[in-house]
Amino acid sequence: MTRVLIVANRLPVTVRAVDGGVEVQPSTGGLATGLLRPHEQSGGLWIGWSGASEELTDDQQAALTSQLDGLRLVNIPLTPTQVSRYYEGFANGVLWPLFHYLLGELPLHVRDWDAYVEVNERFAEVVAEHYRPGDRIWVHDYQLLLLPDLLRQRLPEARIGFFLHIPFPSEELFRTLPAREALLRGMLGADLVGFHTPGYLRHFASSLTQLLGLTVDVDRVQLSSRDVRLGVFPMGVDAENFETLAEDPAVRAETEALKGDGSVRLMVGVDRLDYTKGIPRRLLSYEKMLQDHPDLRERVRLVQVAVPSRTGVEAYQEFRLLVDGLVGRINGEFGTAHWVPVHYIFRGLSDTELVSLYRAADVMVVTPLRDGMNLVAKEFLAARTDGDGVLVLSEFAGASWELPEALQVNPYDVDGTAETFHRALSMSEEERRARLQPLRTRVREFDVHRWTAAFLEQLEQRDPRALTSAATPAPLDEQAARTALTRRLDATAELLVFLDYDGTLVPYAPTPDLARPDPGLLELLGALARRRETAVHVVSGRTREALEKWLGALPLALHAEHGFWTRARPGADWVAAADKVGSWREPVLAILRDVAARTPGSLVEIKSAALAWHYRMAEPETGARRANELRLHLAQLLSNQPVEILSGNKVVEMRPHGINKGRIFPSLSPERLATTAVLAMGDDQTDEDLFAAMPPDAISIRVGPGPTRAGYRIDGVKAARAILESLLERPRVTPTEAPPRGRSSAAPAGPLPPVRR
Ligand code: UDP
Repeated sequence: MTRVLIVANRLPVTVRAVDGGVEVQPSTGGLATGLLRPHEQSGGLWIGWSGASEELTDDQQAALTSQLDGLRLVNIPLTPTQVSRYYEGFANGVLWPLFHYLLGELPLHVRDWDAYVEVNERFAEVVAEHYRPGDRIWVHDYQLLLLPDLLRQRLPEARIGFFLHIPFPSEELFRTLPAREALLRGMLGADLVGFHTPGYLRHFASSLTQLLGLTVDVDRVQLSSRDVRLGVFPMGVDAENFETLAEDPAVRAETEALKGDGSVRLMVGVDRLDYTKGIPRRLLSYEKMLQDHPDLRERVRLVQVAVPSRTGVEAYQEFRLLVDGLVGRINGEFGTAHWVPVHYIFRGLSDTELVSLYRAADVMVVTPLRDGMNLVAKEFLAARTDGDGVLVLSEFAGASWELPEALQVNPYDVDGTAETFHRALSMSEEERRARLQPLRTRVREFDVHRWTAAFLEQLEQRDPRALTSAATPAPLDEQAARTALTRRLDATAELLVFLDYDGTLVPYAPTPDLARPDPGLLELLGALARRRETAVHVVSGRTREALEKWLGALPLALHAEHGFWTRARPGADWVAAADKVGSWREPVLAILRDVAARTPGSLVEIKSAALAWHYRMAEPETGARRANELRLHLAQLLSNQPVEILSGNKVVEMRPHGINKGRIFPSLSPERLATTAVLAMGDDQTDEDLFAAMPPDAISIRVGPGPTRAGYRIDGVKAARAILESLLERPRVTPTEAPPRGRSSAAPAGPLPPVRR
């Protein structure tokens, strides 16, 4: 079986320094339970921090390493400074509150980014040291957002999965982070990025679009050299284990003791003491219920377990005082000599204590302000083999979309939640059972083992649409392109160059008119065109007028509107490929104008044969959505017309059938082809037609991301120009010896061979 390397901030153990050594206790619960199976079965490793923050002696460190070795755990020791800055400072002090929408908990000045980067890099080094080809790497959670990409740089071929256990916030909130782009790029190092809910996935996708300009196709993002898939995997619990525990005699006895004679109803809350869990507002709702329904006094009590957590983070210390104060206030206000309204426990529980509470609860209250998933709610359901009990669940817990039969509340609405608490306590047994049954079935079915298996299975699968699929070999890089080009130039006498303009020779500008050539480009193209035995064609979607104005004086062949118009040399006439009449233009133009009016920042370009709607300056998501709608609408409207609808880079274009960049490739005899090096460069969908028309020996280069049939891929305009400059460095380049215009054999100055129709 393929080894799985699990990488998480923490190892699934608790370590305690003892006299002369260390004590290592396996931890249970949540992630540890879920991942133990693949860890055991795949014979893989679990890599992370042992949790020991105090400096261990050398002997203790050696003892720890040897004990961990036996469990196939790899420790990444953290210094006390790293714990305080990477773990408490950035991960728990910044990412945690922000991803849970609690901006008020953020420090005013975010300082610990460098420590976060440093520890993520340390993790990358250790994982890379232990990696063997064929291993699957599964990285977990918000402490390691940068790790997938750091690993990708070290292990380009590795299969890497990433799962986020906390919410991914809305893009508007996420973008407040100074390091937002770096964090997104970090996550995109993975092949598969998993979330608990479709909402989190949507927020992530929208951040990719808004902040990195990437288009997400439902569940897939195309990067320059590979695809990243996004998936929804709601995490479950070890339901079977909770069912077994629920039947344990010690649990039964404790449950009976907690219930007493049944005269006092029991509400139960179990949380880490964390400001995301909604404990203060829950207490206020409970207080409000006691105020509004005095009959409930002495007939209900709330057992609130608060497990100490992150006690080193300042916000948590202050928060503890707030909760202590509220509990004191309610008990002082309503308590009697016989009755304490809130039974507050500030410590961790044993399994028996925990499950007994789940079993004894009349109402389980899970009311976080925001929670990635919330396992307590699912554990409660799993433990209720008696089929009774009510779950009150916050609509802001990830679990809520899977558990609609629970009584859902908005925890910020204290009064509304108070009423729901009352409703839960008053619910008939029939309704309680009817609601609980489907919830239990779901929790049993989608348990933690199914979650693990589903993620790993998807990580294993190759996406049939992926760029890297066997059918389309991935393009090679810039270095490979240069080597191939040199080799081809050495073997041939002539050079034929086809260049797209926007996105290839010049970067995209906010509006098409602004993307004019700079003097450096004009000089480069001029020198290239004067290179011996060289012909240069510029093939653009632009109008004749634009090309003529900007490039007209250069000894180039110009092709406008994707090859609809051709001008062989300076001063020559523009020749059209076909009659440009088309009854479709008027209605399409009206539609485009309407879309442009409704989409600020977009514009309509009217060409002689084609029509285009550009949306580069539009708000990215609106633009992408409108482009989709437009394509669908036009596809119907134009279904029986000789028109093609093209999606370019932030443009939707309609043009007559059969007119595409590929048609401008001259028909050359096989002998001529054998002695001609052909280079084509382009950056968008329309250039794929050009690449398709190239002879087999041609060097076709895609500039930038996106699926391609080109043999090579380079980063952008800068790299494209560098490649052209390298052609000038070849020995045959002697600009000063430039032949008089019209003499170069393959040059556009001479008669252009007939174009393909
Ligand atoms: N839990 C625990 N000790 C306790 C009480 C609860 O370890 O004293 C466990 C509980 O069983 C659950 C986990 O802590 O598995 C809490 O997970 P949840 O998703 O509810 O919240 P998180 O703490 O991950 O934010």
